[in-house]
Amino acid sequence: MHHDLIDGVPVIWTETPGPLEATLMFGCGVQDETFRTLGVTHLVEHLAMSTLPRLHFDHNASVSLSITDFTCSGRPEQVVDFLARVCAALAELPLERIEKEAGVLAAEGSGAADPVTGELLSIRYGTQGLGLASFSGPGADRIPLEAVRETVARHFHAGNAVLALTGPPPEGLRLPLPSGARTARAPHPAPRNTGPSWHRADVPGPGLLLACDLNDQAMLLATHILSQRLTDTVRHEHGLSYDVGGTAVYVGPGRGERVVQLDVREGQEKRVTELLWQEALRLAAEEPTEAELAEEREAAREFLTDPRTLDMEVAERAADQLLDETHLDAATKLARQAEVTPAQVREVFAAAMETALLLVPCQVEQLTLGRPDRSALPAGGCSERSGLPAGPQFRPPLLARARSGAARKVRLVVNADGAWWQDEDGQVHGFPYSEVVGVEVHDGGRILHGLGNCFVPVTPELFSGLGTAVAAIDAAVPEALRYPVSALRATG
Ligand SMILES: [Zn+2]
Repeated sequence: MHHDLIDGVPVIWTETPGPLEATLMFGCGVQDETFRTLGVTHLVEHLAMSTLPRLHFDHNASVSLSITDFTCSGRPEQVVDFLARVCAALAELPLERIEKEAGVLAAEGSGAADPVTGELLSIRYGTQGLGLASFSGPGADRIPLEAVRETVARHFHAGNAVLALTGPPPEGLRLPLPSGARTARAPHPAPRNTGPSWHRADVPGPGLLLACDLNDQAMLLATHILSQRLTDTVRHEHGLSYDVGGTAVYVGPGRGERVVQLDVREGQEKRVTELLWQEALRLAAEEPTEAELAEEREAAREFLTDPRTLDMEVAERAADQLLDETHLDAATKLARQAEVTPAQVREVFAAAMETALLLVPCQVEQLTLGRPDRSALPAGGCSERSGLPAGPQFRPPLLARARSGAARKVRLVVNADGAWWQDEDGQVHGFPYSEVVGVEVHDGGRILHGLGNCFVPVTPELFSGLGTAVAAIDAAVPEALRYPVSALRATG
């Protein structure tokens, strides 16, 4: 692995077969945004890419939870041209194109994480940092221009970039980015939900989220063993599922989350959820066999010693440099895996199970699961409150109450501290104004979004006589958090 510095940008490269591939990475992503500015990094990326002419070689750009990258592969002079154009665009973004690109963004949709991973992260962290993964926020056309300017200035400069190349830097390579000091990333917000617990969401299949150190090779092997056991039982033995997947999510240096998820044959959601949880409990309770461990070690060796993974290795090394994460090369990973024992696999997995969040498709209504200590796994909810706080109460319009028994139970309280409502099932949702992350302004109403993955619909369709409630909300929530409903959102 070679290291260079071009125009203040660290360049990491290694010689691999095939055309030259370049990945220009910036240490920023969805996790650096807020609910109010959600999508701003993606908008910056689109604005930069919109300046490119038609190019006849592979090129792309993407925003993940923690990294934004611009990639291309082609002849050396094509790579030089692409990188120069991208850097020039980032140095002087065509801000006049914001409206058009916001529309494009809405058409493309977001997706920094798959739906199951996104929901799990939102349950863990709420509407901040990685928890933003499952939200679309106010909409691309409601991102303030000031947030675009601030994002570019803070993140898109030489001090926050790394270039990965699959060959030596070609002649004439320049990276004309604004100079800047290394961006100190704010520490990731603490989890709001440390687990273990289970949660329902509109997802295609169940998933399990476990906090761990992503470099811990015993934990890596543990999740591979779990995935293999699920493939054997749920897919091969019972024929209930096709795909068992796994994802790793970087949280901070030495901190991460691993996700294990399965797709499900329709109608089998509950059964597959139970099998996922049972297999996870079993791995936390009993050591795997030497043979299972050897099998996963061998699979990892096969993967990591394949010369085709060198492209991935150089990009991974560049990402770790941007993220301040300790980088383990393939040889180190394999050496550490060789020393992992079945007892260590069980131990590290049992510790991670103390942080488990189990996501369950909403078709599953009732679920009784145990924890490793045989106590019941609690169901997650929005709020610990069992009743509404004191304060002015609002009720659904008379007609709605006359028509539906459920509407008669619904109540809203907006007082000096915040807003809370009780839904048709008697569940209480809400939060103090200090936890408001965004307020969508509707005609005669407001929808409040809170830090904890929860919202309060203060709207005339649901409640009557809201004048004083709306006034109280507007007086208490900073104006910068209020925005009109996106014009890009499909209505109806
Ligand atoms: Zn709620």
